[in-house]
Amino acid sequence: MIACVIHGAKDLRVQEQSDPQPGAGEVVVRFGAGGICGSDLHYYFEGGIGDVKIKEPMIVGHEVAGEVVAVGSEVRRTKPGDRVAVNPTRACLQCPECLSGHANLCRNVLFFGSASSLPHVPGAFASLFLASEKQCVPVPPKMSFRVAASAEPLAVALHAVAQCGPLLGKAVLVTGSGPIGILVSAAAHLAGASRVTVTDLFDEPLQVALRMGAEEVVNVKSQPDLLAEFGRDRGQFDAVFEASGNARALENCITSVRPAGRIVQIGIMPAGNAAAPINRIMAKELKLIGSFRFYDEFEWAVDLLAANRIDLTPIFSAEYPFSRAIEAFELASDRHRAVKVSLVAG
Ligand SMILES: [Zn+2]
Ligand SMILES: [Zn+2]
Repeated sequence: MIACVIHGAKDLRVQEQSDPQPGAGEVVVRFGAGGICGSDLHYYFEGGIGDVKIKEPMIVGHEVAGEVVAVGSEVRRTKPGDRVAVNPTRACLQCPECLSGHANLCRNVLFFGSASSLPHVPGAFASLFLASEKQCVPVPPKMSFRVAASAEPLAVALHAVAQCGPLLGKAVLVTGSGPIGILVSAAAHLAGASRVTVTDLFDEPLQVALRMGAEEVVNVKSQPDLLAEFGRDRGQFDAVFEASGNARALENCITSVRPAGRIVQIGIMPAGNAAAPINRIMAKELKLIGSFRFYDEFEWAVDLLAANRIDLTPIFSAEYPFSRAIEAFELASDRHRAVKVSLVAG
């Protein structure tokens, strides 16, 4: 089989590896499609994310779907030929976090394509990859693998909305119009938000946010007076989602949310760049809520996609085979030209 292996910053190699053999509760999945995520790009461009550096070659990729081709002796729920979206989270389901319903915070988690433990957990940008039976969620025959692979970022967005609490009738601001910000805006509508505004520094991804249903988009660089308007009367929004990983954006969130409102932090801040104005959070009695990955929301995401409750067409930018993975990663980092770039089998 072939795999996309990151060796260090700007050193991504498509190389042959031996075929994986399933353990008792595992399945072998033949890669159908995979989305390139911001974290994959950090590994590619910087050789790590924040303080986590790659210490050994690692297969990247965690937004994937494909077809089951072999199963271990104890597998009961899936069989060869099943089309599946694959949850990249392998939680232990035994630690205190898992047992209290927070498997996304599992202390023993193995997450595809992550260098935060040693040995690194292999990712799934490989023509064949292993998953536990529990990670595999069947998808309808009609659903494309590219859409099925998007259950992962959609699950991130659903978890953020769930963390926020009720949005029925609320005015929502999302800072950052990358794939996660755009999906949060769509998920906020599903949760009943009456109006969603999305901000970014680039016009092209904001146009995609509009096509995905946002009522209003604002380029904070070219439309600073609109941004200033967000803070009128101590804040215009009931809830805000910070999806850009930018400290300035978080400050804007604090200004833009009404007193007693809620801020959900989803974006990852660069190390040492996240000094929140704590006194303003205190004085407005804001609720600052973290949101990290997802767990049950992965199945919700598959259900929503299967029922056509959300149309992802606007976010898809281009598809590339593994042999052109470097081109795909380069394009995925160009915010003028791409929102979600996919790798596909072949
Ligand atoms: Zn991702
Ligand atoms: Zn656990």
